[in-house]
Amino acid sequence: MAAIALITKIVRVNLLRRHPIALAMLALLLWSALQPLPGLVDAVTGTVPAGADLVRPTAYTVLAPLSNVLDALTFLSVPRAKAFLAVWVVALALWGALRRGTPGRRIARTLLGPLAIVLLGAGAVLLPRPVPSLVTADSGVTVIDYHAHTAASHDGRPGWRAQDLAAWHAAQGFQASYVTDHNVIFNQAVDEPIRLLPGVEWSVYAQHVVALGAVAPIDRGVYNRDTRAMLGLFAELHRQGALGLASLPEYWEQHWGDLTDFVAAGVDGFEIVNCAPRAIGFPAALRAQVLQLAAQHDLLVVGASDNHGWGKVTCVWNLSSPSAHGYGANHVIARPIALAQGDWDAWTAAYTQPWLMLRALSWSERSSWITWILVILIYRAVPRRAGDSAGIGILARSLELFKVRRPPG
Ligand SMILES: [Zn+2]
Repeated sequence: MAAIALITKIVRVNLLRRHPIALAMLALLLWSALQPLPGLVDAVTGTVPAGADLVRPTAYTVLAPLSNVLDALTFLSVPRAKAFLAVWVVALALWGALRRGTPGRRIARTLLGPLAIVLLGAGAVLLPRPVPSLVTADSGVTVIDYHAHTAASHDGRPGWRAQDLAAWHAAQGFQASYVTDHNVIFNQAVDEPIRLLPGVEWSVYAQHVVALGAVAPIDRGVYNRDTRAMLGLFAELHRQGALGLASLPEYWEQHWGDLTDFVAAGVDGFEIVNCAPRAIGFPAALRAQVLQLAAQHDLLVVGASDNHGWGKVTCVWNLSSPSAHGYGANHVIARPIALAQGDWDAWTAAYTQPWLMLRALSWSERSSWITWILVILIYRAVPRRAGDSAGIGILARSLELFKVRRPPG
C-alpha cells in the first residue's frame, strides 16, 4: 500500500505538475482521434475517394511530429499564416519571459520560442524531407497536375529546373504534370521521372489563364484591356488546339460576377483547389457554386499544386480518365486540411491548424507522436542520481520503473 501511495504521489507531483504540456498533448492526440478526418477527400463530393490512398514513407511516419507540423504549415492560407505566426510568436515569447530563472535565461527563452516558429516556417519551405504519396488502384487513370512552375517564372525558386519539378511530382505519386510558367511557354522534352507536358500561364486582364497543350505565343496586350477582351483568349487558345482553364485566386477575387461570361466565351474548366497560399483559402460555399456551373456546362474542374519550387508537399492531386470528357473526366483529390482553409476564420489559425492536423493523423502517425512524447517524458521525469549527466543511460534506467527511489524523509 505504501508503494502504491508513493507511485501515485510521484505521478501526481512529478508528471502532472512538472510535465503539463506533455500530458496535455497526449490528451489532445487521443481526443482528436474521436473526430477523425480522412487523409484524402474528393473535393467535388466531399467523400473519401475510392481507390486512392495517401501512402506515408516509413521515415515520414517515424518523424511524424516534424513531418505533420511542416505539412500543416505548408497548407496555411496567407491570412491564416499571418495570424498563426503572430499568435505563436507572441505566446511563446511571453511564456519564455514569464518563466522563472535568471534574467539571462529569461531573455534567451523569450527569443528561442519565436525563433523556433520562424525556423519551422523556413523548414516547411526549404527542408528536404520524406513526403506522402498518392497511390491509386485504378490503372485506367493518370495522376496529373495541371499547373506548376519552374525558375522560368518570375516568382519561381531560383535554380528550380524542369527536372527538379518532375522529381518533386514523382515523389508524391504524380505520373504527369503540365508546366505553366508565367508568360513563358514550356516546350522541353522531359520524360523522367515523370512526363512533363507543354503549357503556359497567361497573365491577362485581372486573370491568369492556364493554357494546356499546343500553345503558341500571343500578343498579351490584346487581352489586357478589359474583361471582354480578356475573354477572347479562350477562342484564340482553341484556334491553337489548346485548352484554357480559369486559375485561382483571380477568378474568385476579380471576376466572380463574370463566370457565366467565362462559360459563354469558351472556358474549358475551372480550378477548384489551388495550393498556393493566396488561393488555398477558396471557401467551400463558392467552390460549390463553381461546381454547379461546371456540371451544368460539362466543364472540367481541376486541382493545381501551383508549385513554384517552394514547399515540399502538394495539397491536391488529379485522377484523370483519358477516355472521359468534361466534368466527369477528372477527379480532384485533396488533403482535408487544405480544403478547410477557407472555412475557418483567419484569427483562429493558431489553434485550428494544429487541431485539423491532429484530426487527420493516421493511427501510425498518432502512435509515432505518442512514442516521441513518452520517450521525452520518461527522459525528463526520471530523477537523476547525483553526478549523472543527461544521456541515454537515464532512459535505460527508467525502464526499471519499480526502482524509483524513496525520497528522503
Ligand atoms: Zn501559377
